[in-house]
Amino acid sequence: MRNGLSKDLIVRVLGGAPKYTIDDLEAKFPPRELEDGAMVTRFAPSPTGLMHIGNLYGALIDYKLASQSGGVFMLRIEDTDTKREVSGAVEIVKNAMRNFGLTYNNDEKYGPYYQSMRKDIYHSVAAYLLERGLAYPCFLKPEEMEEIRAKQNAAGFATGIYGEFARDRDIPEDEIIKHLDNGEVPTIRLYSTGNPNNRIYCKDAVRGSISFPENNEDLVLIKSNDGLPTYHFAHLVDDHFMRTTHVVRGEEWLPSLPLHYQLFRTMGWTPPLYIHTSTLDKIDAETGKQRKMSKRKDPECNVAFFMEHGWPTDAVIEYLGNILASGYEEAKMKGTVKTFWDYEMKPKKIPMSGALFDMKKLEWWAKEYIATLPVHVLVKNVVDWANAYGNDDNKRQVADVEYLTSVLAIERDNPKRIRKDFITWEQTLTEIAPFWDFLFTPNKEYEYNLDALQEFLATFNAADDKDTWWNKIVEIAGKLEIKPGDIAMNLRVALMGRTNTPDLYSLMSVMGDTRVRERINMIL
Ligand code: GLU
Repeated sequence: MRNGLSKDLIVRVLGGAPKYTIDDLEAKFPPRELEDGAMVTRFAPSPTGLMHIGNLYGALIDYKLASQSGGVFMLRIEDTDTKREVSGAVEIVKNAMRNFGLTYNNDEKYGPYYQSMRKDIYHSVAAYLLERGLAYPCFLKPEEMEEIRAKQNAAGFATGIYGEFARDRDIPEDEIIKHLDNGEVPTIRLYSTGNPNNRIYCKDAVRGSISFPENNEDLVLIKSNDGLPTYHFAHLVDDHFMRTTHVVRGEEWLPSLPLHYQLFRTMGWTPPLYIHTSTLDKIDAETGKQRKMSKRKDPECNVAFFMEHGWPTDAVIEYLGNILASGYEEAKMKGTVKTFWDYEMKPKKIPMSGALFDMKKLEWWAKEYIATLPVHVLVKNVVDWANAYGNDDNKRQVADVEYLTSVLAIERDNPKRIRKDFITWEQTLTEIAPFWDFLFTPNKEYEYNLDALQEFLATFNAADDKDTWWNKIVEIAGKLEIKPGDIAMNLRVALMGRTNTPDLYSLMSVMGDTRVRERINMIL
C-alpha cells in the first residue's frame, strides 16, 4: 500500500469528482432477488463487426445456464476500445442473438449495458482505490515506457510496469500536482502488492482449482487517452455491480485469471465463478489436422454465414449444444429430452480444450431437424429466407406459396418416412428447383426408352389414383418386356432431369397434367 490521495487531488487526477461512493453503488445495484442456484450470466462482446461462431457458442452457454436455473442473461457491449469500433457492429450482434433465439434481459436497474456509458461508475471505483493507496496515477509517456521495455528485454526480465520499473508507484502528491499543472493526463494503475514467488489459487468451473504466480504488474485500470477502463477493470466493476454469478469467456482470458482474482480481493468482493471455454476447432481439409477456425479461411467462422445460407438456426443451436454438453446427444437418442432446451447442462462437462465444429455433423443435425418440421413451418422458413437472403430465382420460387407448399409436402405425410435430404433453406430450394419450369433443364444425356415414355403418355391420366397409375406402368412393362422400375426411372429423369427423386407418383400429382405431358413430350 502507498499513501492515499487527498479527495481534491483525486478530482484533478480523474478530471472530475466521483459521482458515487462504493456504498452508493452497492445500494444502487443491490444483490438480485433470485432463487438459490439461479445463475446470472452475460454475453459481453466487443463490437468488432463480426460475430464469431465461438461468440455464439459462449453466448449459448450463458443463455442456457441462466434459463435452466431461473436466472438472468444479459447482453453487455464492451465498447471501451474506441479505436477498434466499427459502425453497425452492435446491430450485427443483436441480430444474431435474435436469429438464434438467445433472448437477453437487460433490466434497466443494472444498466447501462454499454461500457462507454458507465464512466461515472468506473471513475467512482477508481476514486475509492486512489483514496486508499490501492491505485495511483502514472505519468509515464509512451516513449518512456518503450525505454523501460527495451531495458527489460536486454536484461531478460519480464516486460511491463512493475516493482522498480513502475516509476510513479510511490509518486508524492507534490509531483502529481506538477504533472497535472503541466497539463498531463495520467493513466490510473493498480498498486500491485503481488509477489510472483507466491501462488494464488483461482477457480474455474471446468478445470477446478488452478494456481498461478501472483501478479506484480501495476496494470492500467483507466486509460489516459479517453478515461475509459481497460477490460480488466471494467470486468471487475461490471460483473460485481451487475451481480454476475458466472462469467463464461474464451480460454484466452485464462492467463488473466490471477489478476482478476487479485482485483476482486483488493475490493473485498467475491469473484464470480469463471468458465473458460475452449476454442472451436475444425479438421483442416488440406492437412487433415485439427486447428482453430480462422476468420480468413473458414466462412463458417462468421455467424452471418449461417443466416446468409439459410442454415436452420435451431439446428445450429442443437449442434452447438451437443458440443458443449457431452451427454446431450445420448439423452436425445434415448428420447428423454426433445431439444437442447429440455436438457440440463452441467458447467463441469463443458469441453476444456479442442472442441470440434464439423460442418458434416452439422449437416446431420440440420437434416434431422428439418425432418421434424410440419410442412407449413418448413414453407415459412424457406419463404422468409428467400425474401431476406435469396437470389432472384429463389424469390421467384417462393412467389407462389401454394405450389411451393405442395412441392415441399411430398413425403412429409408419414412421420416414420420423412425425407431427410433438406439441409438448409437455400439448399432446399436448389433441391426442388426442377419443379419450376424456369429452373428445369431436360436431361439430354440419359438413354431414354422412348417406347416406354410414349406408351406411358398414351395412357396417362392425372386423375388416376396411385394403384391405377402403377398398374398401368406394370402393364406397359409387360408389353415391352422390361421392368416397371425401368419405366419409373425413365419418368424420373424425363420429369426431374435426374435419377434420384422423391416419390414419383406424388411428384407427378404436384407437377400436374400439363407440365408432366410437356416434359415427356420434350424428350420424345
Ligand atoms: N469483450 C470480451 C471479449 O470479447 C469479453 C470477455 C468476457 O466475456 O468477459 O473477449
